[in-house]
Amino acid sequence: MTTTARAAICHGSDRPFELTEVELDALRPDELRVRMVACGICHTDMAVRDAQLPMPLPAVLGHEGAGIVEEVGSEVTVAKAGDRVVMSFNSCGDCPSCAVDAPTYCYNFLPHNWSGTRADGDPTVFVGGKPMNANFFGQSSFATHAIAHQRNVVRVPDDAAGIPLERLAPIGCGLMTGAGAVLRSMEVRSGLPIAIFGAGTVGMAAIMAAKIAGADPIIAVDVNDERLALVRELGATHAFNGKEDAIGKIRELCPQGLGYAFDTTGINTIIQDAWGLLAPMGICGIVGASDPADMVSFNEAAFMGGGRRVMGILGGDSDVGSFLCELIGYHLEGRFPFDKMIGYFEFSEINEAIEASETGTVVKPVLRIGQE
Ligand SMILES: [Zn+2]
Ligand SMILES: [Zn+2]
Repeated sequence: MTTTARAAICHGSDRPFELTEVELDALRPDELRVRMVACGICHTDMAVRDAQLPMPLPAVLGHEGAGIVEEVGSEVTVAKAGDRVVMSFNSCGDCPSCAVDAPTYCYNFLPHNWSGTRADGDPTVFVGGKPMNANFFGQSSFATHAIAHQRNVVRVPDDAAGIPLERLAPIGCGLMTGAGAVLRSMEVRSGLPIAIFGAGTVGMAAIMAAKIAGADPIIAVDVNDERLALVRELGATHAFNGKEDAIGKIRELCPQGLGYAFDTTGINTIIQDAWGLLAPMGICGIVGASDPADMVSFNEAAFMGGGRRVMGILGGDSDVGSFLCELIGYHLEGRFPFDKMIGYFEFSEINEAIEASETGTVVKPVLRIGQE
């Protein structure tokens, strides 16, 4: 049995997203159908639109969905019909990375998230009876309804019943990535200095997490003065404009060097400058999307001699379920106030929401898709 839904189809960079009637396939045993309440918009959606990622087009994108479960397959235990859920990326569950609860590095990430179909090649979404690329990050949540999977759905804990789903929607991507990089990947230690380069969603999440971890000082670098004002509210002790010798100012502030440098820009010259600020045993964490042709270079003697490390990080090393619940817990305690970054848009305003993200007027646009 198929379900009718309305989805925003992405055709590429030369056309706006178009709301279109679609049909969802019947559920497999490990799948859930979620009626969408809200979905965040992320730079990865735009990277796909601009053909920078292997996801085929046209497609239903959207990978920060939150909603209410309508129906579950026979093997699903993670949630039941009527549950409030948030969604994240999908993974295979039986590769060497999944075996150690590191699904962000799933060996089969591409077929489970970016192939446009289920991992076995079967479509989840149709338009007029013909297959449409979907199952983006195991969800495709720019739609009134989505098929998700046992491994990428998280039931919202009961103690968070008072938090609207439209606020929780973006927690499973950029927020998880920035906070996880600090708390899980780099395991930032209390009392050590950290500098965070780039104050978008990921950088701001890292700043909030650095405060949770007790890092000191917490230095934010960006070129947008409005964002530099916001990061102070989120926990940054210092905010430097990257156009005004931020590297020199950090060196002056932390003459012994940084315990942690965290790059969200993906710009190789910034990464090299950031790495050059590290104290002995310092870690330079890298999450930014860069040009595939770019290289970075470091001085070998300084790299080895100080026990310095460079760490590529995907998805903040999140294990999905328990880490998202941990972050929701910090939010309930007022220690992860990511709602300050959100701007809301109606589903029909998806193109305006994307523009707001690209011009930087809104840090994290969230689409209101349905009633909670
Ligand atoms: Zn994302
Ligand atoms: Zn896997």
